[in-house]
Amino acid sequence: MGPDFIQSELERLKQEGFYRRLRRVEGEQGPTLIFNGQEVLNLCSNNYLGLANHPALREAAIQAIDRYGCGSGASRLISGNMTLHEELEEKIAALKGTEAALVFNSGYQANTGILSALVGERDVVFSDALNHASIIDGCRLSRAKIVVYLHCDVGRLEEELKRAPAKSRKLIVTETLFSMDGDEAPLAEIVDVAERYGAMVMVDEAHATGVFGPNGAGVVAKLGLTQRVPVQMGTLGKALGGFGAYVAGSRALCELLINRCRTFIFTTSLPPAVLAMAIAAIDLLYKEPQRRLALWHNCRALREGLKKLGFSLGRSQSQILPLVIGDAQECMSFSERLLQKGIFAQGIRPPTVPPGTSRLRITLMATHTHEHLHKALDAFEEVKGEMKMEDGGRKVPRGPRPSSG
Ligand code: PLP
Repeated sequence: MGPDFIQSELERLKQEGFYRRLRRVEGEQGPTLIFNGQEVLNLCSNNYLGLANHPALREAAIQAIDRYGCGSGASRLISGNMTLHEELEEKIAALKGTEAALVFNSGYQANTGILSALVGERDVVFSDALNHASIIDGCRLSRAKIVVYLHCDVGRLEEELKRAPAKSRKLIVTETLFSMDGDEAPLAEIVDVAERYGAMVMVDEAHATGVFGPNGAGVVAKLGLTQRVPVQMGTLGKALGGFGAYVAGSRALCELLINRCRTFIFTTSLPPAVLAMAIAAIDLLYKEPQRRLALWHNCRALREGLKKLGFSLGRSQSQILPLVIGDAQECMSFSERLLQKGIFAQGIRPPTVPPGTSRLRITLMATHTHEHLHKALDAFEEVKGEMKMEDGGRKVPRGPRPSSG
């Protein structure tokens, strides 16, 4: 396979409307960004609480560098297990109400590693159809039999559980707040069904951590299910404004992962500044609850505004609003037109979302102002008019095709 193959793959991606390129933003991550020298409203960040540039996180990082230096020097099991790793793990366990927690370098590494450490060839993993790529890859890496159940369909999940060999180890894995649709998994029902069939439940709280539940502990805590969900994974790079990930659960679970999980074992551990930022961010969850209130206020205002404009936002009840356009190229054109009006709302295409469901994934932040939301709604209304879209957000079908006969 030579360079011709690379070029032809790129051409194919372009023709199919799936070609991606990096966009560079300047300055810091806030409710607005500098893009191509112009200030644009940021409607596509996971920095939901606005902590990525919070003074307390900056200060914590600087002090950690002063005290501990820059790098961790090694993996956790060699000489890279520093005081701050354990301090952060204690904070996470206290927030989540679990016996213990273990820090990972990223959510992607956490999901791939945890799944492949917990299940293997003889086991069955039941995975929601809209789970994140890192969960899908973790399932594949585990070599377990993978059963994908229809999104949030507990009836189907139960049918599949009935069919699985009684003696096999069974693991159900789901996001609690889905990253591309902003809807919540029916977790209480999933846990009930799991207990009836002797299955273990693993959740991904990447988008719920810091946002839902008491002090931002997540959906599991919000529903009072902490004792019934043995594996809770989440990230530190979204609402918590930094970088990294965690798993929270029993001490035995953490011990097993320290011994078995390849993405935990075979990698240099997180550096001091990153750990200190996460510790400061968790402290802010308790100290600044008004950030969550501001986020909810903004969610309500933008959701209602977009609905009044005739856009449909699926089942979302969260800070993630999926404005489904359908066709990938139309979606990117919508996003480009918004950008020309100073609104940065990223178009999301397959393979990130299923074919035919390309969308603008609009995300809100606690630090968006009333004026920001007004500006966004004006721009959405204008682009909808320019693109001649019908209510619901989809494109108005062109007139009847000329008969071929
Ligand atoms: N899980 C979900 C649901 C996500 O949306 C993401 C997004 O990045 C991840 C896991 C991966 O986390 P990280 O960005 O920390 O690798």
